[in-house]
Amino acid sequence: MNIIYISLIVVSFFVLTSLLRHKRRRDKVVNVVESNCAGCKACIRRCRYKVLEMVANENGEQAAFVKNPASCTACGDCIKQCKFNALELHTRTQESRNKL
Ligand code: SF4
Ligand code: SF4
Repeated sequence: MNIIYISLIVVSFFVLTSLLRHKRRRDKVVNVVESNCAGCKACIRRCRYKVLEMVANENGEQAAFVKNPASCTACGDCIKQCKFNALELHTRTQESRNKL
């Protein structure tokens, strides 16, 4: 019986911290510094919310693009994956917040 209570406490802890983190960072959104992007796709593989995708720039080079900013929780996971300093967090504009 004790193991059930412990499991419930652990699961509740992770759900609550996840919800709090999600809520706390809704004022920020990821931004791509295109000139630094090497097109490695590491950020796209890491983002569980499918916020980023690859697009070709005017030179035909692949670069990350913020396709779905409303889904970005500003968790920072993609930023930790980027070895080229091509991702950063920006404060959302009022218009962007209104779309959440
Ligand atoms: S991880 Fe960085 S360099 Fe790689 S595609 Fe994403 S933004 Fe570009
Ligand atoms: S900050 Fe988090 S949610 Fe936003 S694009 Fe990066 S990994 Fe996805």
